[in-house]
Amino acid sequence: MNKKTIRDIDVQGKRVLVRCDFNVPQDKKDLHITDDRRIREALPTLRYLLAQGAALVLMSHLGRPKGKDEKLSLKPIAARLQELLGRPVIMADDVIGDAVAAQANALKPGDVLLLENVRFYPAEEKNDPAFARELVRLGDMYVNDAFGSAHRAHASTRGVADYLPAVGGFLMQKELDFLDGALNNPRHPFVAIIGGAKIGDKIGVIENLLPKVDRILIGGSMANTFALANGYAIGDSLAEADKLDLARAMMQKGSRAGDGASKLVFPVDWLIADKFAADAQAQVVDVQSVPAGWRILDIGPETLKLFETELSVAKTVVWNGPMGVFEFPKFANGTLGIARYLATLKDCITVIGGGDSASAVEIAGVADKMSHVSTGGGASLEFMEGRVLPGVEALHDK
Ligand code: ADP
Ligand code: MG
Repeated sequence: MNKKTIRDIDVQGKRVLVRCDFNVPQDKKDLHITDDRRIREALPTLRYLLAQGAALVLMSHLGRPKGKDEKLSLKPIAARLQELLGRPVIMADDVIGDAVAAQANALKPGDVLLLENVRFYPAEEKNDPAFARELVRLGDMYVNDAFGSAHRAHASTRGVADYLPAVGGFLMQKELDFLDGALNNPRHPFVAIIGGAKIGDKIGVIENLLPKVDRILIGGSMANTFALANGYAIGDSLAEADKLDLARAMMQKGSRAGDGASKLVFPVDWLIADKFAADAQAQVVDVQSVPAGWRILDIGPETLKLFETELSVAKTVVWNGPMGVFEFPKFANGTLGIARYLATLKDCITVIGGGDSASAVEIAGVADKMSHVSTGGGASLEFMEGRVLPGVEALHDK
């Protein structure tokens, strides 16, 4: 990362305002945290700053509150963070204001104060300078470790950087190093796997990746749109009929590789269902012959083999988007098969971006076998599109 990090600043005796991404999934009824990975991934930065003699003022958003909403309070986060950190975490009653400022002023080295959900104020998402200056009252320097929110130009992710020395945390650095390394300095063969629901969401990723990669394996319902563009029958499958020209243009671009072979690799068979349901009837069919009334919910076994062959030689793999409706166990084989196969690759950098792809490697039980599983779905997607992330751009250059 060509940005300054917490290693480049002296925080001894300072109050450090740290933007984390504690936007974790919670049980709707009792609000208990169902996956605390984002909190755990923030620990190296927090521990380092505390060991260097800083006091911490932490901020994060949680969900999409409309004004103050007790259900989206950061209190459960404070409790979990306190457990993981092994020291007290003081929970603030508010995000800004004199009472919070007094609390922040009273902090001593080693103390940790967690502000309430920054999105309790609409000014946060508007990147309102007055709100940013209120946050700035609470700290002497600013650390952004919230990679998952770095694609947002909000007050806590972007605005405060105008007023304080601003550097990245270790998670931010790790995310950018893996994603940037894979995309811009890959060892070849470099194979991307792109799936998920919509072409519209991922077309920017395919366009940005095509010149960089050796192969792009296409799955998910996005592959349906390509199949339709090829004139294949796809039955009742989900596809974007208004994106056929775009799909054809991509296939054109994809076939300009030096050896004349296409960089884009498409499924050769499908696992189809008679309805969109976990208990649907399933059968494997050839890629061109989906009967009327049936729908594609996963790649077929021959496709998985084909994709595995492509992956077997890879030295760098980037994966964004599942191969099928992996939420239904019957239709999870393609996605979980890819996850398990990636886990067997030796001497290959494997980077998982995308929220659903990350949960797929968790479900497959192979998350710790990947080189990197991103904590940022939207942010990693925008990074793969080649876009500049506002939360990163605002940090001081090395
Ligand atoms: P990610 O979060 O990894 O970027 P996306 O959000 O783009 O992935 O896509 C994930 C969704 O795509 C999943 O909910 C999955 O059920 C859906 N999906 C994948 N393949 C199909 C398909 N053939 N038909 C319908 N939905 C699909
Ligand atoms: Mg998703």
